[in-house]
Amino acid sequence: MNYNLLTMSSAWYDLVVIGGGPAGATLACLAKKYNPKRKILLLERARFPRHHVGESLLPEVVPILKEMGVHRKIERAGFPRKVGAVYAWGKDRRPWFADFGQLKIDRRIYRATRLPDDCDFAWQVDRSLYDKILLDHAAERGVEVREGWEALELREESGEIRGLVARDGDGRRSFIAAGFVADCSGQASFLSRYRELRRPIPQLKNVAAYAYFKGGKWKYRIAGRPNATRIFIGSTPNGWFWHIPISREVTSVGLVVPAAHLKKRKITDIRRYFEASLRRCPEIWPLLRAAERVRAPGGGGDFFIQRDWSYRNVNSAGPGWIAAGDSALFVDPILSSGVLVAQLSAQRAAYTLGTFWNSNDARLKSELLRAYGEFYREATSGFLALAAFWYGNDRNANEWWAQARLALRHLLAVRLDDRKAFLLVSAGLAANYEKLQRYRGLLLRPNYPYVHIVSQFLGMRAALESVPAMGLDDIPSLVGRREVRSSWRMDPDKGRMVAGRELRLLPVRARSLTGHALTPRLPLGSVQTAVLERLDGKTSVRELARAAADAGNLPFATAAIAARGFLRELALLGGLKVRAGAAARGR
Ligand SMILES: Cc1cc2nc3c(=O)[nH]c(=O)nc-3n(C[C@H](O)[C@H](O)[C@H](O)COP(=O)(O)OP(=O)(O)OC[C@H]3O[C@@H](n4cnc5c(N)ncnc54)[C@H](O)[C@@H]3O)c2cc1C
Repeated sequence: MNYNLLTMSSAWYDLVVIGGGPAGATLACLAKKYNPKRKILLLERARFPRHHVGESLLPEVVPILKEMGVHRKIERAGFPRKVGAVYAWGKDRRPWFADFGQLKIDRRIYRATRLPDDCDFAWQVDRSLYDKILLDHAAERGVEVREGWEALELREESGEIRGLVARDGDGRRSFIAAGFVADCSGQASFLSRYRELRRPIPQLKNVAAYAYFKGGKWKYRIAGRPNATRIFIGSTPNGWFWHIPISREVTSVGLVVPAAHLKKRKITDIRRYFEASLRRCPEIWPLLRAAERVRAPGGGGDFFIQRDWSYRNVNSAGPGWIAAGDSALFVDPILSSGVLVAQLSAQRAAYTLGTFWNSNDARLKSELLRAYGEFYREATSGFLALAAFWYGNDRNANEWWAQARLALRHLLAVRLDDRKAFLLVSAGLAANYEKLQRYRGLLLRPNYPYVHIVSQFLGMRAALESVPAMGLDDIPSLVGRREVRSSWRMDPDKGRMVAGRELRLLPVRARSLTGHALTPRLPLGSVQTAVLERLDGKTSVRELARAAADAGNLPFATAAIAARGFLRELALLGGLKVRAGAAARGR
């Protein structure tokens, strides 16, 4: 349809957000919080409260709710507190527990994640209420929210999005000009589809069927905490069930099966298949015997079928646009990751926009948008790896946990056993991977090829410059090419991204004399920490090495090599003055 834009009513906003789910409400609320003078409009085609699936949250959502200032309102809504998840797998139905509180027991994890005391739980929410609280809160904080408004078409000029055409509840169309458009339209993926950015993840093509039950029993009661419970996930021969109490009365129960299985077995009556499977589920069916099936909270029927095919966008941001939540990526719900990913990406998008608005540097701006896309991929990589593994392999808990450790290997400096690694991923902490590695603004990201990010580097510059000059002729022998790139860190005081630099040390593809492939050694976290803690103009390399040896319980010679290597890496990032060819062997 060809609109004459001049004849349509027009207004201008710094940011127009499409969609008022968790991603849209979070993005709009935080963008307004940190940029109060910006005009922000949110269009939501439904009128809230509206039904939505996706009820089990993860603990990492709690700090974001606090940052939005909506945490107490969610608390007052009285949703059941989720202390963890319980899984029963395959023929051996012995349940195993993944309680978030266990993370606190390991002091290394606790320190590394800076898990606040009250963040070892999440909520199991009625989404019609949860989403309404978030959206109303965004409006209260100054976002112009229009419910019953649907985004219809984008308007662009020379490849840059400049606004959109929307329809109000009475069917009237208007053109709305925008500096930025944020696509938070969920699986409708308004902008991503328009730009044909969406790519399915072939091994995760599933179908979900779900319903709501009133009067059923909770599977788990926790002594002394009447409102606390766990969700239950139980495998079936070809898929899995969820059992999620979302209030004292109502429980959400759903079945997820690969689409290929339904096709192969020629199952077309999915309601019957759901009911028959439920009666055969030994852990859930007894809880529902006395319960009645009810209509979904927020409206809709009493039975739902949803294609839950996982996908991701080739891009999550570009000139004049950014996408957050399901509109950019959707990972199968086996780990309850969707709402967290939606709110985490929205938080990051708000920080990205705040920085964008405050910069005139075109190169920096395009770098920011690229970094946002990279963040999205990294934040979801753990969930994606575990979901893909679960569907593609024997449902064996031990192997699933081991997979979590593999997924974390590139992200976390602390070494964990398989089960703790699983807990960390399933609490959503791995999605906030930067938090796992931050030490006083220094991000150490062991990766393959391994990466150091020094993001508050500029602030440390003065101290670093007075350290004796380092030579670069002594780069660890297993490490080859070096790359320095720009990198970003979130500054929660200002709601901005802070520029830093990132050093990549690419491994030499070589074999040792014994024929083994050589891999770079991971950085020694304790050495680097000790070096940073003591680094000032007066400290000698020998003293640094001594401190590193004590902190890491290492022989002096090993610590000295590691400390020197680390100082050289800092030099590569530009903070130390380097005399070409001069090898620093300690002072
Ligand atoms: C079967 C299943 C089970 C799940 N279980 C869980 C779970 O247990 N835990 C979990 O965390 N996640 C779960 N999820 C994922 C979760 O539902 C989503 O990840 C989450 O809702 C994403 O939030 P969002 O804000 O991106 O999108 P949404 O919540 O979908 O919000 C998008 C909003 O955009 C609006 N909209 C769409 N198009 C337009 C338009 N053109 N104009 C204006 N408005 C528009 C829609 O009306 C909607 O309100 C599950 C998903 C599925 C499919």
